[in-house]
Amino acid sequence: MSIQTKKIKFRPPEKANIEVKIEDLIQCFPEGVVVFNAARQVSFVNTTITAMTGLSSAGFDLSAFRRLFHHENLTNLAIRQVFSGKKFLHILEIKLTRFWYELFLLPLHHDTTTSGAILMLRDITREKEIDKTKTEFVSLASHQLRTPLSIMKWYGDMLLSDDVGRLNAKQQRYLRAVYESNQHMVDLVNALLNVSRIEMGTFTVEATMTNVPALARDVINGLTPQISSKKLKIKTYFNPAQLALSVDQQLLRIIFQNIISNSIKYSSAGTSIHITLQKNSSDLLFTVTDQGCGIPPEQQEKVFTKLFRADNAPSASPEGTGLGLYIVKSILDTVAGKIRFESKFNSGTTFFVTLPLTGMKSSPGLQTLIPTKI
Ligand code: ADP
Repeated sequence: MSIQTKKIKFRPPEKANIEVKIEDLIQCFPEGVVVFNAARQVSFVNTTITAMTGLSSAGFDLSAFRRLFHHENLTNLAIRQVFSGKKFLHILEIKLTRFWYELFLLPLHHDTTTSGAILMLRDITREKEIDKTKTEFVSLASHQLRTPLSIMKWYGDMLLSDDVGRLNAKQQRYLRAVYESNQHMVDLVNALLNVSRIEMGTFTVEATMTNVPALARDVINGLTPQISSKKLKIKTYFNPAQLALSVDQQLLRIIFQNIISNSIKYSSAGTSIHITLQKNSSDLLFTVTDQGCGIPPEQQEKVFTKLFRADNAPSASPEGTGLGLYIVKSILDTVAGKIRFESKFNSGTTFFVTLPLTGMKSSPGLQTLIPTKI
């Protein structure tokens, strides 16, 4: 049997017709659309965006729009960037009444010049609700897991300290392996709990005057077993040697612990790690430099994303969750700090953290974050 084909002659509709249809099409887009002309005035809005924002199309000008999103500077900056040649901008996620929206800005090109810009608003309320449910589930599950893990740790402690009779060398070795795996699980569960607390926006910042170099030393001392087992040389340079800042000790401990323990995990045995604290005119700079495996250049942009581990990380250190730097970055975003890094593949990495000398601002929350060792 042969398939019969019939040639259909395609006749393009009139150009004017196409324009009318495109406008109709944009009117019923599920995304809200605003078109700016070259003079940066609003030249078109679709009905979706008027329904989303409650603004009538007549009252829809740039300033009304900026007021609505309470991000005047950001909107100005984004519009300036798009008109000066930037290709695509994801500006922010915003909440209007009980709905969540994602805001995009794209340039409109005519030949080689930017003739305007399109702003799009996408309803992401459902995604946000799903995210919230997932976060709440992770929080609940991690919370439930903590109790049996703590009981296992407690009995492990008792057995290892010979409280209930002496174990022979082989039994001790096996029990230690069980104990360490349990500790690893405790740290993982705590990291998951921290992530859920960060994502629910419920963690507390409780700033008190703290001697920051002393806290850094305390974190380094706590990591002595890992440092010794790899025969690493730790060099510190703290200037000044004592410096009191108003910070949340627990949060700063998490920051120091994650960055220093990473430098240990990703270093090969016998190499050096330099840790510095330097007071500058308006901030405190904390750096950690290692001579470890480095981060592959093509993966560096993902370093602060959740669950990211570079391809070379598991062979350098099988333990790891890819949550540490996500947690550190989220804390620093909350307390007006900054983090960046420079890394050379197979040769070493430096992390730079800055905290304003004004310290951290206390803010109420439902729970605190928990320090983890992985
Ligand atoms: P992990 O628990 O895997 O260490 P992190 O969130 O702390 O998770 O770090 C994310 C990833 O960044 C790591 O898996 C590793 O690939 C890379 N990384 C972080 N610090 C270093 C470092 N000092 N040297 C090399 N790679 C690093």
